[in-house]
Amino acid sequence: MPPLFALALLLSGPAAAFSPEALWEAWPSRRLVTTPAPCLRHAELVSLLRDLEARHRGRIGLEEVGRSVEDRPIQLLTLGSGPRRVLLWSQMHGDEPSATPALLDVAEHLLSGGSEAARILEATTVLLVPMLNPDGAERYARRNAQAIDINRDALALSTPEGRLLKSLRERLQPALGVNLHDQDRRTTVGETGVLATISLLAVAGDPEGTMSPGRARAKRACAAVARALSPYVPGGIARYDEDWNPRAFGDNLTAWGTPVVLIESGGPPPGRRREDLTRLNFVALLTMLSGLAVDDLATEDPAVYEGLPRNDTGGWADVLIEGGELWQPPGPLPYRADVAFDLDDPDSVGVACAAGSGPGPSLVREVGDGRLLSAARRIDATDRLVLPALAASVRGLAAREWMTGDALDAIGRLGVARLRWHVEPAGRDEAESLAAQLGRPGRPAISVAPEGTSPLFLEIAGPPRRPKAATLSAALDALTGVRWRSGRPLGERLRDLTGGGDDPPLAPDAPASLLLLRPQVAGATDPDRLEIEAVFLDGREPALEP
Ligand SMILES: [Zn+2]
Repeated sequence: MPPLFALALLLSGPAAAFSPEALWEAWPSRRLVTTPAPCLRHAELVSLLRDLEARHRGRIGLEEVGRSVEDRPIQLLTLGSGPRRVLLWSQMHGDEPSATPALLDVAEHLLSGGSEAARILEATTVLLVPMLNPDGAERYARRNAQAIDINRDALALSTPEGRLLKSLRERLQPALGVNLHDQDRRTTVGETGVLATISLLAVAGDPEGTMSPGRARAKRACAAVARALSPYVPGGIARYDEDWNPRAFGDNLTAWGTPVVLIESGGPPPGRRREDLTRLNFVALLTMLSGLAVDDLATEDPAVYEGLPRNDTGGWADVLIEGGELWQPPGPLPYRADVAFDLDDPDSVGVACAAGSGPGPSLVREVGDGRLLSAARRIDATDRLVLPALAASVRGLAAREWMTGDALDAIGRLGVARLRWHVEPAGRDEAESLAAQLGRPGRPAISVAPEGTSPLFLEIAGPPRRPKAATLSAALDALTGVRWRSGRPLGERLRDLTGGGDDPPLAPDAPASLLLLRPQVAGATDPDRLEIEAVFLDGREPALEP
């Protein structure tokens, strides 16, 4: 064989096929599960497992090892026949799905040939329990159908799912357990301001964190994962909280003799798809299995894991409006304050599950000095004013004639976040149903009120006219005619215009409904001289002009 050809063969050989780069590149075309993790339900999982078994009959074991509280089968997939047994389970928290498709993708990849795959299956027995908590997954909730957190049930063993996990450990005596979860998507890597896309833990088996040969293996496994994934999430890998948790499974499995690696999937780097979390799990798990098969991960340096910064929470916001002056009731004057808020969307929104729920609410996270916050989106509000969005009343059921989606979008673009619709009792149901039908993020929210409720200061009697300028006064003219005008300065009128009570509308946990205003000349506070630069209604910008 010519030497160059031999070299090429060597480079493309077994090790190269299981390099992190090769696995990362292979996943989009080789993965078995194309349903995004948050959309995968138990029924589809069962049929995928049956298909997998049918295609690889004789090389794979599929065993129903237990049933959930609601009688859903929980299955164990067994691959390989090697002496080193590895037990991997996912989604013991029903709303933490990212690794579940990865487990099936890993099985498919190992069964679809190649000498490195064969080596793994000779040296190890890979034991996979995808979706340990199918009842929670069905509800997309953390807990099982008994309202118990399975990961706090290792001692009490009140849940059938927890009893199953313990019995699997006793029966199979794995040399390593891998516990697959998702963490808060706003967790950061220490105080670096980078999202912790993956967090790792070589779980301790006692309060002192005693080292043992098994825990050393778990640390080497974490080091392998950190090394393999770091090119794809630069700076985005952290170490999970190491405190001994006496009720948790990872801690107790380690104490019972099976060292456990915890892998938590967090927020994908800004701009990247949520499905990358499944892809990262795929690369991580195959890298770990390959290292276990070759030499029990002997070449991995535990210091790589030990040197990872710890998880940090509270330092990340979805949107940060920084550098501006906040002007809101009850005070009459603007003051220097940043405003940070989150968009609390369920996971299913980002990947558009067919049956998924819609976007969630926004929540103001911080008002004040935001300099320590990192954010997915930063908005420079230097020399700008930040005001709470406007609120207005609409009177009578007859308003249904003009209250269309387009009219509401136009009202929203002019800065109105809330509409109070005063309706006589006979028309209430119809008004409620129209309000629900028209509701959507980035549109004014309509609340139906009894006819006699006192109206808000601003009243809207029909679809807004086109504003004559981009200023706040032009917007108010277009919404209400000239009836809003008075001689008083804006600071004294903010409570009227925003429909507020005694408390500041923009405060932690309130909806992020606000206006960003640009003074036409420095220091201007007159509505004629303040241009509306941006509008956020419950955290979303209204639809652009049609
Ligand atoms: Zn969890």
